[in-house]
Amino acid sequence: MTHDEIIRHLESPDPRELFAEADRVRRSVVGDEVHLRGLIEFSNVCARDCLYCGLRRSYNGVKRYTMSLEEIFTAVRDAAGIGYPSVVLQSGESAQYSVADIGGLVRRIKSELGVAVTLSIGEKTRAEYAALKESGADRYLLRFETSSEVLFRELKPDSSRMARMQCLAWLREVGFQVGSGVMVGLPGQTPAMIADDILLMQALDLDMIGIGPFIANPHTPLGDRKSGTLDLTLRTVALLRIITRNTHIPATTAMGSIEQGGREKALACGANVLMPNVTPTQYRSHYQLYPGKICIKDQPGDCSLCVAAMLGRMGRRVAAGPGHSLKPRTRDGGV
Ligand code: SAH
Ligand code: SF4
Repeated sequence: MTHDEIIRHLESPDPRELFAEADRVRRSVVGDEVHLRGLIEFSNVCARDCLYCGLRRSYNGVKRYTMSLEEIFTAVRDAAGIGYPSVVLQSGESAQYSVADIGGLVRRIKSELGVAVTLSIGEKTRAEYAALKESGADRYLLRFETSSEVLFRELKPDSSRMARMQCLAWLREVGFQVGSGVMVGLPGQTPAMIADDILLMQALDLDMIGIGPFIANPHTPLGDRKSGTLDLTLRTVALLRIITRNTHIPATTAMGSIEQGGREKALACGANVLMPNVTPTQYRSHYQLYPGKICIKDQPGDCSLCVAAMLGRMGRRVAAGPGHSLKPRTRDGGV
């Protein structure tokens, strides 16, 4: 699809045919099964100052927490007990945990529980990524957030688009299944920029693509800006399904937070993954990247029941197995 065609779909008066086409592609290429990944937000300590995020270091109004390695392991064991074959370990970026700590934790998870492990812990060196891969981690999520260099510099002042792209290249080189993505509706973001984002995600040949609307957080410098819309986010998901075919695309928490039923709508226009929250309840309210986050008061088991009911209503099935990448590759970690 060309840049112009993508823009036309982002701006068309009626996206229904686009959504229907994305749903057809999803059904024929990845089927009706939905992969579940239990999400553990294990620390909200962050040394970075991203302008959009409620965990940014300049914000003093949040109670910071650091789960112990034992607590994280227990949360993963609970997730495996609920039946999730795959977990995502996500945190702010800080030196609270060494790479050896995380590597040791992953080794223990892999040997005792056997679930697939995805890390989402930010920018590291190539050697650190290699060590994490060596410990047995399967996948890594690192959104590039926006393909616009100007926007990136404004919104993520202590990184650069180039550094982020370098990290994604390293993650691939060391053998991770790689996920990336963007926020939709960022202040200053144009449809042309979103089209650039989509084409960049296609060029990166990602195993997983995570998209969510930007949600203005009143505790950040972008608090008075307009949030993105679910509609534009869904169009982006639909276009990515049609263009990239067999990528794993989650219906993200941000989509369900900006509008009730948002995740169901995403599942109906291209998404094939859900990430139910399994963070221990006492920590959840402190991991608020944006306001209005769903499931803050729930116990890990509650989210599992809710998600099963959601899929049942939609005539979709929970996938068995870890849901590895569907991209045909010969490298280690791919399937
Ligand atoms: N610290 C890691 C992982 C945690 S943040 C990192 O930054 O990579 C995970 C994602 O949350 C980010 O990639 C960003 O896309 C999203 N996010 C942060 N603030 C947000 C906001 N206000 N609205 C929507 N998504 C947000
Ligand atoms: Fe930290 Fe990630 Fe939030 Fe940026 S987006 S402030 S790196 S947690």
